[in-house]
Amino acid sequence: MRKSTILLLLACITLNLAKAQQPEKPSSSEIFEAVQKLNFLGSVLYVAAHPDDENTRLIAYMANNVKARTAYLSLTRGDGGQNLIGPEIRELLGVIRTQELLAARRVDGGEQRFSRANDFGYSKHPDETMDIWDKDQVLSDVVLAIRQFKPDVIINRFDHRRAGRTHGHHTASALLSMEAFDLVNNPSSYPDQLNKTELWQPKRLFFNTGWWFYGSRENFEKADKSNMLSIDIGVYYPLKGLSNNELASIASSQHLCQGFGRPTTRGEQSEYIEFLKGEPLNGSSSVFEGIDTTWNRIKGGKAIGDILYEVENNFDFRNPASHLPKLMEAYQLLSKVEDKHWKSIKTKQLKSIIEACSGLYLEASASNNWATQGETVSVNIEALNRSDANMVLESFNMPNAVNVKKDMSLANNQKLNFQDVFTVKTDADETTPYWLKEKGSLGMYKAEERFIGKPETPRVYNVDFNLLINNTPITFTKPVVYRYSKPDKGELYKPFEIIPQVTSSITEQVFIFENSQQKDITVIVKAGKDNIEGEVTIKHPNDWNVYPNIQKVSLKNKGEEQTLVFTVIPPPNQSEGYLNPVVTVGDKTYDKKLVEIEYNHIPFQTVLLPNESKVVRLDIQKKGENIGYIQGAGDVVPESLQQIGYNVVTIDPKDINPELLSKLDAVVIGIRAYNTIDDLKFKQEQLFDFVKEGGNLIVQYNTSFRLKVDQLAPYDLKLSRSRVTDENAEVRLLDTNHPVLNYPNKITSKDFEGWTQERGLYFPDEWGDEFTPILSMNDKGESPKEGSLLVAKHGKGHYIYTGLSFFREFPAGVPGAYRLFANMLSIGKDNISTEKKLED
Ligand SMILES: [Zn+2]
Repeated sequence: MRKSTILLLLACITLNLAKAQQPEKPSSSEIFEAVQKLNFLGSVLYVAAHPDDENTRLIAYMANNVKARTAYLSLTRGDGGQNLIGPEIRELLGVIRTQELLAARRVDGGEQRFSRANDFGYSKHPDETMDIWDKDQVLSDVVLAIRQFKPDVIINRFDHRRAGRTHGHHTASALLSMEAFDLVNNPSSYPDQLNKTELWQPKRLFFNTGWWFYGSRENFEKADKSNMLSIDIGVYYPLKGLSNNELASIASSQHLCQGFGRPTTRGEQSEYIEFLKGEPLNGSSSVFEGIDTTWNRIKGGKAIGDILYEVENNFDFRNPASHLPKLMEAYQLLSKVEDKHWKSIKTKQLKSIIEACSGLYLEASASNNWATQGETVSVNIEALNRSDANMVLESFNMPNAVNVKKDMSLANNQKLNFQDVFTVKTDADETTPYWLKEKGSLGMYKAEERFIGKPETPRVYNVDFNLLINNTPITFTKPVVYRYSKPDKGELYKPFEIIPQVTSSITEQVFIFENSQQKDITVIVKAGKDNIEGEVTIKHPNDWNVYPNIQKVSLKNKGEEQTLVFTVIPPPNQSEGYLNPVVTVGDKTYDKKLVEIEYNHIPFQTVLLPNESKVVRLDIQKKGENIGYIQGAGDVVPESLQQIGYNVVTIDPKDINPELLSKLDAVVIGIRAYNTIDDLKFKQEQLFDFVKEGGNLIVQYNTSFRLKVDQLAPYDLKLSRSRVTDENAEVRLLDTNHPVLNYPNKITSKDFEGWTQERGLYFPDEWGDEFTPILSMNDKGESPKEGSLLVAKHGKGHYIYTGLSFFREFPAGVPGAYRLFANMLSIGKDNISTEKKLED
């Protein structure tokens, strides 16, 4: 059901999505809007913590109504979230969410920035957040973002005074922004940054408040608003045929992997911002009060403004090219401006307006979307002028700065086409997100100095087109791209990338061995160039064995793959480690895997990651055989239980009936199923009856908000928002004699070692006497929470509710999580008859 909603959504916004990968081809109304924006010299920086935190209504309003240069600084890339559209999690999800933010900004007209902070998962308090992040590094990144972007106004999404009442990352983003506001103009704060940027003082800082922060609309209506500015963000843009709200919801719907597709609202709507710091507003309704946002703002700007305001006031929608002489005049004046900051911003804007007005089409398209080090790449160069302007293509510079002289006239609509080549350097950087090149810590990414703050790794393979327009030299730089077409999709673009000569991958991330039986694993080797002859070995822990030791690989063609099967033999006792395939070609070794991320709404991405799979030999016993699984918001329970030898069938909730259930030993409910599946409310009684008859029902976490059933359990059970986010928090066993801790596996504190991201979430805080709480745990400084695992006997079977994060521990191959879950499935099955068998 969810899948079809997403498909529908994808179809609805295809128009915008297709644009995401194509070169821009602005219409005259878009050119006019760009001229309006060119004539506004003011900027706004919006600050929050995650992709999707940002209020696209306000960003769209600032960028399109006010015409301000507007950016969103998201401290993290959102690696900790969940992915509703594909298998990517963690750092790969961060790559997708980075691109979704860029896609959103292409729609709402903003720019995008990041810090090096990593979204490590839920955090209750900003103090904890700042501990796990390197607070000083993140603060330095916020200071750098402000010094580089030079906003007049900063707007925080979150309230710095609400520590503990929202995600710690949220409050931390507001606190850091507040702190940075006072440091950015101080030469002794992060003085090293002053080698590449200058001091700056934003005029004022606001908090983007709203009723949500007051608990209810009624409370907010009564609140004192004397310190607030209200902005009607419901304005309509006739040039776009869209209201600001409609535009904003298209932007926020780019966050597809979060399931953020949402309907829009129309009409007048107020957005509130509360003044926090800087120069107070003196009755004005503009956040820019007291700031000159005209061309007069900069030295030498008046003469430029005189030209450009005239272009704006008399804009010719039928023939924008008629403005080229004036635009070129402004371009020449701008090149003499001393203010480097505004000169660079305005030159970029003005050049793209000149390009658009003249209908210039400049493209450098490679014959493939990737190449390897040392490879020679052929490129098709296209240059076309679609105006009467006097234009000459003097030369173009290929990558590696090779200048190719042309001196050819670009007459109206007479296309010039050239074939040329360049050679990728033998030590060229391979294309991958810069923040994933080197392993960071739990809280921080590592990044080369020059990349800090950038949304993505800048493209380095570019072609410069050196033109003369009306005898004035002007250079346009275009990234090398790959243009191709598909019969069912039309013309498509991919970025041009450098990949390793050989990559390899193991098909699974985790292999669980429930006994000492060997398993076969599959390694796929892929050629980045023609004629690869090499050998593959697999690095493995000492107590494990892999054979054969070496396999030959021979690949004739670039892009070709070869599949190799290796046999892995586990040690007799519990053990875990990693397998790493290494391909040797000549005297070089290759140990990376190439991950390709391809969705319609974002540009194609390649990511190079260390090629490793976890292997776990479990010391595990289990009872019962046939498990039914009901999928909720998505977890890997079926695959994980299959790996330890269970027979798992996924059941469509509609198909639940006593006969089907009678064939099962246990039923596992996927995470948040009672929040997402309507049909379950009709099936609860049958599930409880199944337990009465001797089945085990294991319910994983749900949230009390939007629960679709009145009765979650056969006995009283009330969910709360308590969670234990420290994955290393001490776990106390409340009743060491309880069967779930003893049968068939003896559970000890060792089974709670090596957990990842968190212990669990949304634990119940009230339950009937029928339940036995099994574990006690808490985060630092909090009272013990006993609701993480509750077991109740019901008739002949057991009902178990657990908020423990098995959905995170299974894919990470955490042995204790498997052993405890096996006990939950096995409880009461001491003398099980094996007659209950599933039919095909
Ligand atoms: Zn958030």
